[in-house]
Amino acid sequence: MLSESITTLLSDWPIDVCTALKLLHVNLELHQYICCPTCFMLYGPFPEQSDDYHNVPNVCNHCAMPTSAPCSSQLFHEDCEGEVPVPSRRFWHQPFQSWLAHFLLRPDVVKSLCTSVAPSSEETLFDIWDGYVFQEFKGPDDEPFLTSDPSKPQFRLVFSNILWLCHHRMTGLPLI
Ligand SMILES: [Zn+2]
Repeated sequence: MLSESITTLLSDWPIDVCTALKLLHVNLELHQYICCPTCFMLYGPFPEQSDDYHNVPNVCNHCAMPTSAPCSSQLFHEDCEGEVPVPSRRFWHQPFQSWLAHFLLRPDVVKSLCTSVAPSSEETLFDIWDGYVFQEFKGPDDEPFLTSDPSKPQFRLVFSNILWLCHHRMTGLPLI
């Protein structure tokens, strides 16, 4: 009985991102790229539903260095019936503006962003806002960027790619 349920579940399980998003009723703006399976060079973008990959060579023409030979990996393989070339690897990208719009429309996100965050008064850090980097981060007017004026309601977004191992160097305080 259990194996039958698992078999049914797996037979309906989506095997690509577009099918998964469709099943979840998530309507995202996605761009597709052809990705070289060897050097990861991207060709495109193409519309999400496109299978017209004009101007994409059959083999990768990317040269790692100006004097090096082209990668020459196959970018396409034939479909099951051997008739239509299919990209060997695809890369899906959601444009930032599209992602931001979806993010802000999620329940409670704007409410959460409008909530001011007071840094901890203790020496131990409990939140990333307790670190001095964000508290002292200045905008183009040389004023604190993340400290808002209550008379001018607004929220400001900062995007970063933080390696948590750098936490101590950013804050100067021990990790909890
Ligand atoms: Zn390549």
